[in-house]
Amino acid sequence: MDKEATKHDFRARAAGWLNLLKVPNGNPALTAAQFEAFSKQVPLLYFILATNMISLSWTHQGVAPDYLVIYLPGILTALFTLRSLIWLRGRHLQRTPQQAYRQLRATNILSFPIAVFCTAWSISLLPYGDAFQKAHVAFFMAITVIGCIFCLMHLRSAALIVTVTVNLPFFVVMCLSGEPTFIATGVNVILVTMAMIMILVSHYRDFRQLHESRNVLMLQQQALQEQNKAMQALSDENLRLANLDSLTLLANRRSFFHMLETAFGRASAAGEKLAVGVIDLDGFKPVNDLYGHSAGDKVLIEIGGRLSTINDPRLSVYRLGGDEFGLLLQGDVTEADAVALGEKVCELIAERINIGSGMVQVTGSVGFALYPDVGDTGQEIYELADYALYTAKRHHRAGTVIFNAVQANELNRQKVVEEALVAADLENELSLVFQPITCLNRRICIGFEALARWESPRIGRVSPAEFIPVAEHNGRITLITRLLLERALDVARLWPEDVYLSFNLSPHDLSSPENTLKIVSIVLKSGFDPHRINFEITETAVMHDFEQASASIQMLRELGAGISLDDFGTGYSSLNHVHKLPLTKIKIDGSFVRNIHTRRTSFNIVKSVLALCAEMELEAIVEGVETEEELRILENLGVRAVQGYYFGKPMVAAETVKLLAAQIAQALAS
Ligand code: C2E
Ligand code: CA
Ligand code: CA
Repeated sequence: MDKEATKHDFRARAAGWLNLLKVPNGNPALTAAQFEAFSKQVPLLYFILATNMISLSWTHQGVAPDYLVIYLPGILTALFTLRSLIWLRGRHLQRTPQQAYRQLRATNILSFPIAVFCTAWSISLLPYGDAFQKAHVAFFMAITVIGCIFCLMHLRSAALIVTVTVNLPFFVVMCLSGEPTFIATGVNVILVTMAMIMILVSHYRDFRQLHESRNVLMLQQQALQEQNKAMQALSDENLRLANLDSLTLLANRRSFFHMLETAFGRASAAGEKLAVGVIDLDGFKPVNDLYGHSAGDKVLIEIGGRLSTINDPRLSVYRLGGDEFGLLLQGDVTEADAVALGEKVCELIAERINIGSGMVQVTGSVGFALYPDVGDTGQEIYELADYALYTAKRHHRAGTVIFNAVQANELNRQKVVEEALVAADLENELSLVFQPITCLNRRICIGFEALARWESPRIGRVSPAEFIPVAEHNGRITLITRLLLERALDVARLWPEDVYLSFNLSPHDLSSPENTLKIVSIVLKSGFDPHRINFEITETAVMHDFEQASASIQMLRELGAGISLDDFGTGYSSLNHVHKLPLTKIKIDGSFVRNIHTRRTSFNIVKSVLALCAEMELEAIVEGVETEEELRILENLGVRAVQGYYFGKPMVAAETVKLLAAQIAQALAS
């Protein structure tokens, strides 16, 4: 058993030793590197062989036969030169690892006959010449083998073949010479070559390890690069999605603010201009409410697509959310450019849109703010553009407004009002006035509209048109509505039973069931007949959340109260609202009455709204009647109820009682 193992061990070792004489072929990359390093040294190897051979031949001229010192060395030198040239020429050729392996193996095999030949040749010269010449032979063999070991450093197997092939005969011949100098030289060369072989083996190992670690490093780098690429692709995609609005495929709000900051940074640093635009659709919410969300989506997609068609390299378009879009106009931008762009945008939005089940139409209002005219930060420019939009929606619906000095003053004033309102003692500072609503046929007051008044100790008297929107914004409106409704009901209780109270509600009051229920409970608690109450709502209240607003209106109707659509004609004026809501009255805005005797359009509008009211069995009240002429025309049109300075300005509670008392007295007298 032991014998078998020893045998096996011996065989394995022998195979291991034999392998040392072969070119390794397990690692193509290593072979390629080995080939590259080795090929640089091949010409040097042949150079050493040739020069040594010429040198030895030369010292033996005349002593040794010509075939040994002229012909053979001549042929070999020519061969060596030829091989060198072949290697030199093939230096730049790309080889596959397999080709490199084949060439190394051929060299490896070739090293043996060359070594045998050189050894045999030099030994065959030994018998000729004197001691110096013999010494030259020994020197030739030693120096050549050392030179070859150096040059074959990267082809370990060939180096070993050469060493063994040359050294063994050399040593034997040296020893046989019996000459102590030669014996010492033989021993010396053997020892030196052994040391060199050890160096070569360790060098070869280092070379392989270096190559392998470089390979591992390269692989790691490759893997890292691939990983980086994948990560980059993923983060690019995430970034793209994070900056993209998935519905319209426009850049989104986040992207807008990012670009705004970048654009602002650039504009402020380079003294360039920048225009920021905000677009809001008018009449989008009814489309959503009446035709469903998918129709709403179609509208947004279509409008997003239309806005993207505007061909201006300075422009970028964004969807900021809901029905709001953003515009950034960079570079050389004038106010006229912004106005022209706004008009183009409005025009594109106003084109009818096919939603599948039919055509719809929405309009858009645009607000712009231009840097450096206004704004100290990107965010501020946006806010000013937003304010310009707010102004557009109030006064230039479906048009464009550029933020200017007028709005700057308004905005300042709004801040002042807001601060005063936050600090206000509403119980003491708020009061109510009442404006009569007159029946034209009988020329008597049939109701009063309660209107809020605020006397601020800080900023004086503030119009409700000014502070109500601010209170809406900061939430104080809830308290204001409750407080004023309780007071209005207290006053209305003093009036005869056929006189009703008209009370303004704000969008906030209809925005949740709780808010509306609070109003219902105040009415019930007051004991006032709900049938004598009329709540005035604006279209804005309905626009915000149609479903909720209509549920709230329904709740008030069930209580017994009437509902007027206030300021009709100034808002969205969507007939859908009139059709879909359980309204009882429509209040035609005073702006249509102004100069109705000279303005044909106003006349026509009032006339058609009256016809609509008659058809839908709604009462019509015309507001803001100031003159005899206006009244006459309205009378001719068949208007039955009016409100305005002509019949009475808003008055305090005591005066309403006086007016009604006088009215009763007059009725009794006639
Ligand atoms: P509104 O509901 O349309 O009220 C009518 C406004 O027109 C009142 O302005 C009234 O004084 C004014 N007015 C009445 N007749 C004439 C006229 O012949 N000519 C002119 N030029 N104006 C006339 P006021 O009191 O300044 O109220 C402004 C707005 O503030 C109101 O418009 C209403 O929207 C809001 N508001 C007033 N009081 C309240 C309130 O208690 N609650 C809520 N939510 N809003 C209120
Ligand atoms: Ca009103
Ligand atoms: Ca009104």
